[in-house]
Amino acid sequence: MRDAPVESVQEALAPCTWPEAKAPALQRTLRAVTERCGKLALDQLAGMPVAEARAWLEALPGVGPKTSAAVLSFSGLRRRALPVDSHHHRVATRLGLIPASLAVGPSHRVLEAMLPEEWDAQQVYDNHEVLMLHGQRCCFFRNPQCGRCVLLDLCPTGQERRSPEGAGAATSGG
Ligand code: SF4
Repeated sequence: MRDAPVESVQEALAPCTWPEAKAPALQRTLRAVTERCGKLALDQLAGMPVAEARAWLEALPGVGPKTSAAVLSFSGLRRRALPVDSHHHRVATRLGLIPASLAVGPSHRVLEAMLPEEWDAQQVYDNHEVLMLHGQRCCFFRNPQCGRCVLLDLCPTGQERRSPEGAGAATSGG
């Protein structure tokens, strides 16, 4: 992928959004890894503290907190790092875990700091998966399904949407 013609990478990424931007960006990042490590591999991250490994990754072009956490958590490295995608962020905001003004990037450190210290990498990964899936399957961007949500009793947004004053928001999907 690093050395393939950019058009081939673009073709391989066709099912994703913005393949024309992602293909050259991905190749740039792979080249930067090769330059910094002398090879295309990330095994050296296995022995680093997570914070150091994340900083190493985030120094690469195009890598932010979501990608650094996803690389460490989803790969065979399976380190304790919490990615926050837009679904996860939306659910956390609606549940009142973070303020609506906190953007996705800075929300990573805040949400991760809330997790029990004794949770291992798998539990942190599961936490992300659960929040992401809840956003994809129930707490939709438009028209969240509060009436069938298992979190309704705990959720200030759901409670507000169910109140007579929030009825307008419920029908408009806000
Ligand atoms: S109650 Fe509504 S707003 Fe709250 S988490 Fe559930 S679907 Fe989302």
